[in-house]
Amino acid sequence: MNKNQYLIAANWKQNGDLKSSIKLINNIVKLYKKAKPKTDVLILPPSIYLGAVLNRLIHHKIPRKKISLGIQDISPFSNGAYTGELSIDMARDYKCSYALIGHSERRHTFLENDKTIFKKTKLSLQSNMSTILCVGETIHEYNKNLTKKVISRQLKSALLKSMNLIKPNHSKLIIAYEPVWAIGSGKSASLKDIVDVHNYIRTTLNKILGLKKNNIKILYGGSVNDINAPSILSLPNVNGALIGGASLNSKKFIDICSSI
Ligand code: PEP
Repeated sequence: MNKNQYLIAANWKQNGDLKSSIKLINNIVKLYKKAKPKTDVLILPPSIYLGAVLNRLIHHKIPRKKISLGIQDISPFSNGAYTGELSIDMARDYKCSYALIGHSERRHTFLENDKTIFKKTKLSLQSNMSTILCVGETIHEYNKNLTKKVISRQLKSALLKSMNLIKPNHSKLIIAYEPVWAIGSGKSASLKDIVDVHNYIRTTLNKILGLKKNNIKILYGGSVNDINAPSILSLPNVNGALIGGASLNSKKFIDICSSI
């Protein structure tokens, strides 16, 4: 995959307020225009600020192909009586072309299970959204050498029954490998572990799809910053990154986008 196909995604999580979100996107755009990174850039703001962030992108004449918008989570149902939930169609109203599914904070803090994540993944793929499925092991699982087992289970449970949706267009599916223990800890996985797990994900996807090769992007996430990004992004089978903490700093984020 060449640099133009790399994806760098900013997951702002539940941080900031309206004023700081507008300031952050304005600063990102300013630096983006100067640095002109070759990578695809994706912003996942808190959903309630999607409209405000979209307005700033329009104001700065940034096409959605250059800086895309995504939703941090979606409802497992298309619409109806589900208080507090947001649908794919609602996200589309704000020009979201990506949906993040199964983030470790959804799995572990909000106790989403494999079944819910399967439903969300299917719904997102059915709606032709670019679907970022997050997988990753806890520290307990890592220490017990269970990483591959856990990842295999998470991939198979989310994807196996949606093969008919994935096969015609691989590029709509993106996998983010995010070891739970590396998220927000300041300690990313070792380069060796990243290569090993990304290779394993690639092979497992080939098995699931019944193919010899596939061009599904595999992102790494977990304490990526402007210092470690160049070495992580140059690894085989790493096609981009999902950035939490460092994406709240416009300079660090654009430095990461420009580091390949
Ligand atoms: C994340 O939450 O997806 C993430 C990777 O966070 P951080 O970069 O802060 O580790």
